[in-house]
Amino acid sequence: MRYAALSPHIDDLAFSLGGALKLGHFEAIRPISVFTISDYVLCGAGGDPVLVSGIRKKEDANYFGAIRSAERPIWLDFLDAPIRRSISAESTCGTELNAEDVRLLDDIVERMRGLLYDADVLLAPLGIGEHVDHTVVHLLALRLQELGHVVYFYEDLPYAAECSEEDIRHRIARIASQSNVALRSLVVNCPDLPASKQRVCDIYSSQSNQDLFSKLIVHSRRVNAKSGFGERIWVC
Ligand SMILES: [Zn+2]
Repeated sequence: MRYAALSPHIDDLAFSLGGALKLGHFEAIRPISVFTISDYVLCGAGGDPVLVSGIRKKEDANYFGAIRSAERPIWLDFLDAPIRRSISAESTCGTELNAEDVRLLDDIVERMRGLLYDADVLLAPLGIGEHVDHTVVHLLALRLQELGHVVYFYEDLPYAAECSEEDIRHRIARIASQSNVALRSLVVNCPDLPASKQRVCDIYSSQSNQDLFSKLIVHSRRVNAKSGFGERIWVC
C-alpha cells in the first residue's frame, strides 16, 4: 500500500508516528509538510525565517533519509501561523481560523495536485489540540476525502497527550457525522518506541526538549496500556 502523509509542520509526522515509521509499518510513504516557512524554534534562537526554515528542512531530510520506506520529504512552503497571522507561537492553539486561512485551503488543494496521484491512502492529522495550522491541514484532509481519497488519521503529538480520550472520541464522531465515514482505531504496537522517539527528538533538535519527549511517551502508553507502547491510527 502506498501512502502520502500530510504533516502540518516539519516534525509533526515524526513526533506522531515515529514508532510506526521506524518499524516500517508503512510500506511506501511520501511525507508532505505544508507550513514549512517558520521562524519558530523550541530550543535556541529563532526569528529568522530563512535560517530557521533551512535548519528545520535539514532535520527533516536527515530523519526521512534514514527511513527506508520513505521518499524524500516534500515541503509546500506555506507560511506558518505566527508569521502568517502575526501571532505568538503560544497563541496558535485555540485561535479560530480567519478568512485568509479558509482561502488558503483552496491554494493548498491546488498545490496538492499531482502529489497524490499514486497514493492508495492519505495519512492526515486529527487536528487534536486546536493548533490553527493543524486545523487547516485537518480540513484539507476532509476536503480531499470528499474528492474521493481514502484518509486515515493520526493523533497529533505532542498536543494529543494533553487531550482527554473523550476529546479524541469526540473528534472521531465529528468526522463520522460530517463525512459519513466510520473510523476504527488501529494501535501499532511499538516495543522500541522510547528509543525511536528519542531518535526523533535528537534529529529534530530545534523543536524538542525533555518535556516534549515525556509527552510522546505518556501518550504512547495511554494508547497501548495493555502491552507497552503504541501509536494509534484511525482507519476506515
Ligand atoms: Zn505542528
